[in-house]
Amino acid sequence: MKLTAKKLIELDKKNIWHPFTQMGDWLNDDPCEPLIIERAKGSYLYDIYGRKYLDGVSSLWVNNLGHRNPKIDAAVKKQLAKVSHSTFLGLTHIPAIELSQKLLSILPKHLKKVFYSDNGSTAVEIALKMAYQFWRFKGERRTSFLSLRNAYHGDTVGAVSVGGTDLFHKSFKDLLFKAHFAPSPFCRKCFARKNEIPFLNKAKNFKEHCKIAGCGGQCVKKAEDILKKNGKNIAAAIIEPENQAAAGMIIMPAGYAAEYANLCKKYNTLLIADEVATGFGRTGEMFAVEYSKIKPDFICLSKGITGGYMPLAATITTDGIYNAFLGKYEEFKTFFHGHSYTANPLACAAANAAIDIFKTDKILQKLKSKIAFFKNGLAALSNHQKVGNIRHLGVMAGIDIVKDKKTGAVYDYKLKTAAKICAQMREDGIIIRNLGDTLVLFLPLTITVSEISKIIKSIAKRLDAL
Ligand SMILES: *Cc1c(COP(=O)(O)O)cnc(C)c1O
Repeated sequence: MKLTAKKLIELDKKNIWHPFTQMGDWLNDDPCEPLIIERAKGSYLYDIYGRKYLDGVSSLWVNNLGHRNPKIDAAVKKQLAKVSHSTFLGLTHIPAIELSQKLLSILPKHLKKVFYSDNGSTAVEIALKMAYQFWRFKGERRTSFLSLRNAYHGDTVGAVSVGGTDLFHKSFKDLLFKAHFAPSPFCRKCFARKNEIPFLNKAKNFKEHCKIAGCGGQCVKKAEDILKKNGKNIAAAIIEPENQAAAGMIIMPAGYAAEYANLCKKYNTLLIADEVATGFGRTGEMFAVEYSKIKPDFICLSKGITGGYMPLAATITTDGIYNAFLGKYEEFKTFFHGHSYTANPLACAAANAAIDIFKTDKILQKLKSKIAFFKNGLAALSNHQKVGNIRHLGVMAGIDIVKDKKTGAVYDYKLKTAAKICAQMREDGIIIRNLGDTLVLFLPLTITVSEISKIIKSIAKRLDAL
């Protein structure tokens, strides 16, 4: 059965409910008609008409090494000829064993045990449950968590409980367990003076940042207040180190993540680093925790782990946490959690190839000059009359669109200004996405400088036309 484009769209609209999508708009082609992707190569997606689009959001932050990467393709094919899936409950397999060794070799040395799952939300849920149970084994009942406003940790109910984005999470409030929220490290003082603190001149450390902002480090003080008061009931504190990506790329002041980590030590709670977005090179380092110089008790990985090929996640923890779960069968200290597709062998094969590529293709070394080029392009764009604040780290950036640069006035939400710009940019052969009126860029690590330039130019052109 070969379906025409018209028929495909008709069937999509008739049968399918898309994620994070107002289906009423989707049905009405607002702000644009659905795009049907047929194939991809490198940084490009191709639709059913053969039209080519630069993938400026890495297929929603997963694809880091390019589509149809020959080495990952070959690794998956090789594994396909062996076994596509077998359970990880009571059995094991070669790709997952190899991958555990590779992951531990690139992660901070104190992280020793890999627990696999299949998406970022579950990687976070697993860390939360392990942390909770760890304290139970110690004879403590810690039933809440510490998180940050604007945080995003996924869409399952546990992950939503530690989510601080009202837009996504408020609707489910009644279903959630208790979490405390410290301010996002992007306070009103930082915010009010955001145009005076050029994102390019990130202060050297947290103290310096607070001095420039004149805020007295309120965000850390409030986090400390929460821990002082409730620390004994907080099983773990969670953070997306360096970048609250889903909040529109809120880049943390230098040293903030380290301050947060120190508080966890001081008040004796566990630390979970959610690197689902920032992991695998997005900051310019392999992991953001290297950038932050923090030693979390858990790190949650997914998205880029397979090069963006397949669903896979890992929650990696210390011997200390792992050992607390050891005991006799009848002691019921087992970690009762698992998924049907835990450690899928095809996904593990893709991940093994992806990690190798970082080394063989010198991905991070080659990235340095691209990041510098990107930064310069964004700096030029930040002078645009329709641009408010720009936040940037590595290959990630958030560009706030404003109606008036001087007053900082924004467009009416209903106008969907940024969504329309993203729709128009498709005519320039570029796919990016917006979060409210923030344009979000999340570039593949294998992008070229001329492709970066193309994206910046297209944004400028569309902003000119506002
Ligand atoms: C995307 C994301 C998640 C959720 O991952 P899914 O695979 O979509 O469930 C969790 N945390 C962060 C920081 C993310 O960016």
